[in-house]
Amino acid sequence: MTDSALHTTEQSMPKIAIIGGGLTGLFTATLLERAFTGDNRNSVVPNIVIFEKSRSVGRLATRYRTDSATAKNWQWAFGAQFFTAKSADFQQFIKPWLQSDLLQPWCANVVDLTPSHDAVQTADTQKKEQWNSTQARYISTPKMTSWGRALADGLEHTSINFKTRVAPLSKEHSIEKNDTNNETQLFDEDGNSLGYFDWVICTAPNAQAVELMAHSGFSEQAKITEAQMQACYTLMLGWDESRILPASLNTQENCWDVAYVQDSIIDRIFIEHQKPAHDELLPSVTIHARNDWSEQHVDDDMETIKAQLLAAAKQALNWNAGSIPSQVDCHRWRYAATITNSNKAELGILVDNEKQWIVSGDWCGKGNIESCYQAAKQTVETIDNAL
Ligand SMILES: Cc1cc2nc3c(=O)[nH]c(=O)nc-3n(C[C@H](O)[C@H](O)[C@H](O)COP(=O)(O)OP(=O)(O)OC[C@H]3O[C@@H](n4cnc5c(N)ncnc54)[C@H](O)[C@@H]3O)c2cc1C
Repeated sequence: MTDSALHTTEQSMPKIAIIGGGLTGLFTATLLERAFTGDNRNSVVPNIVIFEKSRSVGRLATRYRTDSATAKNWQWAFGAQFFTAKSADFQQFIKPWLQSDLLQPWCANVVDLTPSHDAVQTADTQKKEQWNSTQARYISTPKMTSWGRALADGLEHTSINFKTRVAPLSKEHSIEKNDTNNETQLFDEDGNSLGYFDWVICTAPNAQAVELMAHSGFSEQAKITEAQMQACYTLMLGWDESRILPASLNTQENCWDVAYVQDSIIDRIFIEHQKPAHDELLPSVTIHARNDWSEQHVDDDMETIKAQLLAAAKQALNWNAGSIPSQVDCHRWRYAATITNSNKAELGILVDNEKQWIVSGDWCGKGNIESCYQAAKQTVETIDNAL
């Protein structure tokens, strides 16, 4: 954020629409509010509206199931498992939630795991690293979704309209307001007006942003299509009690929390009940398939995918008749991971200054949670500079 926090009067206060209530949308609203009402606090109240098509925040996702006998839960963070905070400004941003323990470092023991192709032999695990405070990974507690909720609850000048899908933008809906400013009328998918806005910020995943802006005359449309995302299938497994976990997951014998799986359609295995503040859970394990494999099979039948992933998980974790998981669930993410190219600069947010439209999202950077923050920061700087 620049020192020149947004100086505005009530008359010039822009109305800002944010399409998407994932972390990019929530970070953007948070930083906009701070810019408007920060050090140069005055009587103006920012007018920010988030439109989110689903009932909750984006790709941070937690699934629960309750055991009717014990009333205890299995829990799976089936989207993002953790995040990094490499930049000093993001570290500063997350501090209040670290202090309140809503965010916690996850000092996981990480192994490389090579499944055995022989049914009686256990997989080979080699210690890889421990995530520690010099290269911290963070989780949100008690659930991965808790942070999104806390961010939403902390917004004072932003309204969030859930279950509202914004219809694709159109040239005709960008109207000249005066010599220097445009405003845009947004509609929902049933053609109802959602109001007029000085700035529209789209934070939808890349493929959805392409569709939203396709016939709008957005000056950076060609760049949106440059970014590419891959799918991810996630398998969620649960056991009724620790006693019957397969030996590969029995912490006394094998002390690992995260496994990078080699030579398999599985990419990573995360042990949920070993995360900080998760010890009340019934044994729960989340498994992400490889992105390239998921993309190749993105339209396959879910039961077939589930069976293939379960077979690969059995090979990696070696359960037998007495240690079969009682809970098995599978989720398809069509747009999970941004394909990054280390030789190419990050795309950055895309701005049409004339229409006052910004297209943003994790895919404008490295496709992770820290990229959401960087995109939000660039967005607020762009609006700040334009005012
Ligand atoms: C399987 C998986 C594993 C991951 N692992 C990690 C990890 O370990 N670490 C990490 O840092 N990151 C990880 N990520 C990435 C991380 O989850 C994302 O970077 C982050 O959640 C993206 O947030 P976002 O707000 O940019 O997008 P989203 O969360 O996708 O939010 C965009 C929102 O826009 C809404 N929307 C779209 N179109 C419309 C419309 N027309 N009208 C209204 N609303 C609309 C969508 O419903 C969605 O809620 C993972 C993601 C997945 C899927």
